[in-house]
Amino acid sequence: MMSAQVWSVPMRTRFRGIDVRDGVLVRGPAGWGEFSPFWDYDVAESRRWWAAAHEAATEGWPAPVRDRVPVNVTVPAVDAERARAIVTASGCRTAKVKVAEPGQSEDDDLARVEAVRDALGPDGAIRVDANAAWDVDTAVERIKHLDRVGLEYVEQPCASLDDLLVLRRRIDVRIAADEVVRRAADPLAVDLREVCDVVVLKVQPLGGVRAALRVAEAHGLPCVVSSALESSVGIAAGVALAAALPELPFACGLATVALFTDDVTSTPLLPVDGALPVVRPEPDRLPQVAADPETEARWRARLAAVQA
Ligand SMILES: [Mg+2]
Repeated sequence: MMSAQVWSVPMRTRFRGIDVRDGVLVRGPAGWGEFSPFWDYDVAESRRWWAAAHEAATEGWPAPVRDRVPVNVTVPAVDAERARAIVTASGCRTAKVKVAEPGQSEDDDLARVEAVRDALGPDGAIRVDANAAWDVDTAVERIKHLDRVGLEYVEQPCASLDDLLVLRRRIDVRIAADEVVRRAADPLAVDLREVCDVVVLKVQPLGGVRAALRVAEAHGLPCVVSSALESSVGIAAGVALAAALPELPFACGLATVALFTDDVTSTPLLPVDGALPVVRPEPDRLPQVAADPETEARWRARLAAVQA
């Protein structure tokens, strides 16, 4: 049994419907790994997340082919003024902007991406993530409007492979596939031909760095590595994946520690000049971010369940 530490950190802004992020760090012979499936993931789906933590703690990761990973600033569904401030403070040249948030309007999305364009200037890159919120007709209309600021790609605009296939013929903006890959029963077997231009890879949902590299190889498309809102220990696995990919044509979505009010380490993986270094931070702040006893008990039960 590896030693396990439960952490919990408030978010600066509600994101993906959560206000507090928590998880478990496990320590093995190769270092620390993170197990932090969201609470709406059941035991079966959480097993891949555990495989990623186990790999990090017991094997480590393949050798990097680069020593820094360009990253995007992540802009939650905030108002235009906050969006501008977040982008300016980040130092990043690429922004990923959340759109189609429940309860918000098309005008809210447009105001947000326009503020982001204003903050980045004409040379910056803007991508939006709709998290599968739109049907095809809505996606066509929204993407046309949002593309007035110039979009690098739109991430998971519709839910299904069929809808993405139809949508891709109707728009000029690149499509990135996220949920349709990482929540598939077999991410290697999903038929992405004509469906997307970019594949989003996430280490924990795909079962580890090596498993994600196999997904990249299977699809033969440009890849972007994104986080699942991990602490810096989990982000280090994403950085290891991005550093090991043969090609890395786009900035990665790994600067999400900036969405937290605290971290497990005093050397958080935050971008400098728009990039993250390829390092493994030591979690030296675990006592400061320890979860309450009830949360701790729930995580230990999840950990036991995936190992059973
Ligand atoms: Mg996404």
